[in-house]
Amino acid sequence: MIIAIDGPAASGKSTTAKLVAERSGFSYLDTGAMYRAVTYAVLQSRVDLADEQGLAEWLALQDITQRWEKGTCRVYLNGTDITAAIRSPEVTRRVSEVSAIPVVRQAMVRLQRTLAAQGDYVVEGRDIGTVVFPDAEWKFFLVADDETRAKRRQKDLEQLGIHQDISELVREIQERDRKDSSRAHSPLRKAADAIEVDTSHLTIAEQVQFILNQIKQPLTKETS
Ligand code: C5P
Repeated sequence: MIIAIDGPAASGKSTTAKLVAERSGFSYLDTGAMYRAVTYAVLQSRVDLADEQGLAEWLALQDITQRWEKGTCRVYLNGTDITAAIRSPEVTRRVSEVSAIPVVRQAMVRLQRTLAAQGDYVVEGRDIGTVVFPDAEWKFFLVADDETRAKRRQKDLEQLGIHQDISELVREIQERDRKDSSRAHSPLRKAADAIEVDTSHLTIAEQVQFILNQIKQPLTKETS
């Protein structure tokens, strides 16, 4: 079974998806971390983003994996732990550009489908309910107001020792949402059959419980 959790930047997807996975015994896949890992790899390399074929060949050689270790989801690139590095402001600034490239999306979607075919998964991202798993049994779309999202991002960054002003973070989040929603391939949007959850005034416990309560209910739509 697949539970898709989509939504704009810093809407509470990761925290919620991880806890829903833990409580329901599902595995967890962070597709944003995969696009961040590709972006990090691009920044470390001399690969030409305009050369589609070269980029596809280069991508096929990159080994991106996620492993659940001691309560955190670790991300590896070719065996090196890049969990902290993919959250850097530089990667965050470039990720929308890299993830809009069709060959990047094709490679990541293929990988996401292969990984999640191995069992029950909570998959979080931008296009999970619309493109990657359009037949997902459950789809949630998390939203929150800009100020709340910027404050959450600021807290996450502070844990990494990075300080950024709220106004700057609001601008960055809005800009990333604009790019993610307006791209030609798999733009960020709510699937018609997704349940929208506004997390602005919910505690983490409340948003997790809301989803757990929903998935306890019998499915009303046909599943394949
Ligand atoms: O979720 P997170 O903020 O880490 O995602 C980073 C970026 O990865 C997004 O801003 C978006 O550009 C890209 N992304 C995507 N499709 C997904 C997940 C993330 O394009 N399924």
